[in-house]
Amino acid sequence: MSTASTPAQRIPGTPRIIPRDQKRDFPKPSHPRVMCVVNQKGGVGKTTTTVNLASALADGGLNVLVMDLDPQGNASTALGVDHAPGTHGTYEVLLDGVPIREVEVSSPEASGLTVVPATVDLAGAELQLVGMVGREQRLARAIRNHLKTADVDYILFDCPPSLGLLTLNALVAAGEVIIPIQTEYYALEGVSQLMNTIAVVQRELNPDLDLSTVILTMFDARTKLSAQVAREVRRHFDAQTLNAQIPRSVRIAEAPSYGQTLLQFDPSSAGAKAYWRAAQEIATRGKAR
Ligand code: ATP
Ligand code: MG
Repeated sequence: MSTASTPAQRIPGTPRIIPRDQKRDFPKPSHPRVMCVVNQKGGVGKTTTTVNLASALADGGLNVLVMDLDPQGNASTALGVDHAPGTHGTYEVLLDGVPIREVEVSSPEASGLTVVPATVDLAGAELQLVGMVGREQRLARAIRNHLKTADVDYILFDCPPSLGLLTLNALVAAGEVIIPIQTEYYALEGVSQLMNTIAVVQRELNPDLDLSTVILTMFDARTKLSAQVAREVRRHFDAQTLNAQIPRSVRIAEAPSYGQTLLQFDPSSAGAKAYWRAAQEIATRGKAR
């Protein structure tokens, strides 16, 4: 891996060198922000967005917790934490009521970044939750308890590509929603169903839930289609769409196979810079807009 085009690999646990133009301190929010990264469409960049935003916010000096709510465990992989079967994590929090602090682990990605990993066991949780009392509120309760003592600024939920009980738990526990939208054909397909789900959650279970952020992913500046889709999304979600849009890049696709986020794998790449800008916008504009 020592070709000229390969970025220098950081040994886990050693400090990351952040290019000077990217290093910045982010403002601490007035209250912990709990954000649900959701889109039931598969492969739109939910996990990539979750882990890179989390990493950027942690590098910006904030305490960040990522909860992996996807049995695929992709966020756990990208953040370099163990999620082999039998590892305790989201499943135990949701099903057994285990406190978050007992299962969160530090990510080698950045100091101040912790992860509650997801294992394949979580695949069974949807069905097991069905019969449980307060099945949609179990994560919300766990988060409330955690926030009584934890010094955390941001909690990000990486949701699976469905609107089942895992995603519902995340929407009920969150204060804000982040929707990544891939700038490709059919980008908005399914978003109206997601909007309906969010509206139902706001009406029935979590009146404070705010669709605060839309982030355009896999933007390809060479195609007219990407620009068209981006315009269309900005028309629908004018206030929510971040100015920073994430370019399509092979570097982004390569990073997870090294158990790293793009910010760690190739911090000076265009994609890493875009995620930095996105994190900065989120951190500075807060909820009050
Ligand atoms: P799922 O619905 O399966 O959970 P997801 O919405 O979490 O998927 P990701 O896993 O983040 O999506 O991304 C899907 C694939 O696209 C991954 O292989 C990822 O590495 C790649 N990818 C994500 N963002 C980009 C990008 N900006 N440019 C190129 N590839 C990307
Ligand atoms: Mg994912």
